Amino acid sequence: MQTTFTHITASCQCKQVTFTAVKPALLELVCHCVDCQRFTEHSFAKLSFFKVTDTQVRGELSQEILQSNTGNTVTRQRCKQCGTAMFDQSTGFPDIKGVVSETLAPLYQFNPRFHIWVSQKVEGVIIEDDCKQFEKNFYV
Ligand SMILES: [Zn+2]
Ligand SMILES: [Zn+2]
Repeated sequence: MQTTFTHITASCQCKQVTFTAVKPALLELVCHCVDCQRFTEHSFAKLSFFKVTDTQVRGELSQEILQSNTGNTVTRQRCKQCGTAMFDQSTGFPDIKGVVSETLAPLYQFNPRFHIWVSQKVEGVIIEDDCKQFEKNFYV
């Protein structure tokens, strides 16, 4: 058991935006939905979700607001300066904040539990872990 947890940090490419969490992520998953593909410009998004009250964000963000496939309003934020995709927040889960895992400080151990929206997965992407997979979201 780890007894020396300090905190987790993340930043965008230009370091204008920084993120700190004082507690470990509640949930980590890989999302293959089309919105995440567009947001991160990758074939899928690796997301770590933290309790909002455990987190702090500094820096200027630009945001886009979209309707998710499940009817929630999703706010996606990126660095206003360099455009790095950083945060994802949904009205369905107002207490948790999603962080794009690639922005977390090096050596961060991303440990997903689910793959979601596998129905929209990019052809050719092979899921190699044995996490549970969902055609849509895990709560639908
Ligand atoms: Zn930046
Ligand atoms: Zn997604």
